Parts: sequence; structure tokens; C-alpha cells
Amino acid sequence: MTACVALDLREAWADVLRRRAALSAALSAYGAVFDLWAEVSALAAPLDVDADACRERWSRGVPLIAEVRPDLRTEPVEALLGPLLGVVATVRPDAAPAVEAFAAAWERGDVRPASLLPSRGGFGVPVTTGLAPDLVGFLAIGSLRPLLEQVFAPCHEHLVHGDWSLGVCPFCGAPPAWGDIGEDGRLELACHLCGGAWAFSRLRCPFCGTDDAKELRRMTAEGPEGGYALATCTRCRAYLKSVDRRERWNAGPALVEDWGSPHFDVVALREGYARPLVPLVVTARTD
Ligand SMILES: [Zn+2]
Ligand SMILES: [Zn+2]
Repeated sequence: MTACVALDLREAWADVLRRRAALSAALSAYGAVFDLWAEVSALAAPLDVDADACRERWSRGVPLIAEVRPDLRTEPVEALLGPLLGVVATVRPDAAPAVEAFAAAWERGDVRPASLLPSRGGFGVPVTTGLAPDLVGFLAIGSLRPLLEQVFAPCHEHLVHGDWSLGVCPFCGAPPAWGDIGEDGRLELACHLCGGAWAFSRLRCPFCGTDDAKELRRMTAEGPEGGYALATCTRCRAYLKSVDRRERWNAGPALVEDWGSPHFDVVALREGYARPLVPLVVTARTD
């Protein structure tokens, strides 16, 4: 297997905690995730799919994962899942029975790494575990991100502007979790599950596809939080957080920015909006 560098976001996370010192206690649970990720490497074989084969699938609107299933071994996923279940049980004590049911389903083999991959309509984890979708999403990101980033890394560079216009990740099929507005003013959506990113129109909702300007609203933060924004859609009631990197040059990677800004989620959730992958700590704060 090719030697792969571990996914080390610890420094970027420490920077977010410095900038958002008032939230650092609430966000402390995430430290264990970044520590876990930094310790593991060479977990999965990178996909051997050339640019033409990638682009042929994208031209049909098919994320790579729909036709090229990565070979995910159980052991490395299990090694991450164990401590992650502990994190969930700590942050969400109310979910302890569901966490136990999930662990039992894993033991029985009813839940496998592939169960945590996104599919149309959510993840493949049996509803009988009772684990809420946002917690399944956290476990999927926590246990699969280091692997899927290695799997899809060679394909990330094959995607060029215009290859993909849908609101799901062209690599792993997950919903977008964050928006980055770059130096050129264009929006890139970020995937937390595989670390992929893809260009997307700023005038369209990535979740339902509407481009009706009356349905779309952009709320921008001001003062010390300048550069951050919430994009909402009244048609599907979904929201997306984003950062304009022209204004916020010191912003970190998408995932640390997302997990480090639960206060924006609180605003959106209070206004009745939702999104597929609400971070763990937000649900803890608003329940
Ligand atoms: Zn992805
Ligand atoms: Zn929408």
C-alpha cells in the first residue's frame, strides 16, 4: 500500500480555538477526533481511476463512489469508531442507548464500513439502532474521513471547472457541508467525508437546486466575524455556512471552520432551517 500522510488538522483546529476562545470549552470534544486522525496513516488504497474515467462518470452526473466502491477494511474503521462512540456518548448522554445499539449492531456485523457511506436518502445505518441522522453523520465523518481522503486523493485533481454542477460531492456522493468563496469570488462546496471540493453557483441552492432569487437569502456576519455567512433557502429550508476568504484570509480548512462555528448553526436552526450534516456540538447545545 502506498504510504500516505496522516490527516493532521490539529494546528488548524488550535487556531480556530484561539480565535473563538469563548467557545473553546464547548468545542473541546472535537480535540479527540483530530488527535485520532493524526495518529493514523496508510489506511486505504488510493483509487486507480484516471482523469478520463472520472470525467466520463461526472458527465453522466454520477459520483465516483456509485460505480467505483472503495475497498474499506473493517479494522481501521473500527479502531476509529470505538473512541468516536465514546465522544458521542459524552457529548450526548441522551443518545447512550442508541450508541450501545449501534455498537451491538457493529459487533453482529449488521453495520459495516460501507453502511456509513452516503447513499440516496442518507446513510445505510439501520434505523433500529435509533441513532439520530446527525450522529450517524458525525460517526461517518469521524471514522471514514481519513480513509476516504486517501482513497479519493488522486481523483481530486482530475476535477476541473465545469465537470460537475450537482449539489452532492462528485467523489463520495455526500451532501455539501461548507462553502468557500475564493479569491476569484467563486463558491466551492466542501465535503467533510472525503475532503473533496467542487465549484457551485452562488445563485442556486445546492440542496434542492432552485435558482429562484426570491427563495434564496444570504445573511452575512459582521464585526469580528466578518467574512462568514449563512445561505438559506426557503424552498427546502436548508442552509449552508460559508466563509469569504477574500475577507477572512486566515480561515482554516472547511471542516475546522464548520465545527468551530456552531453559533452560526444555532442561528439557522432557530430560524427553522436544517442541513444534512449538523455538527455534533450544535445538537448538544440546542436540544
Ligand atoms: Zn466527498
Ligand atoms: Zn433549497
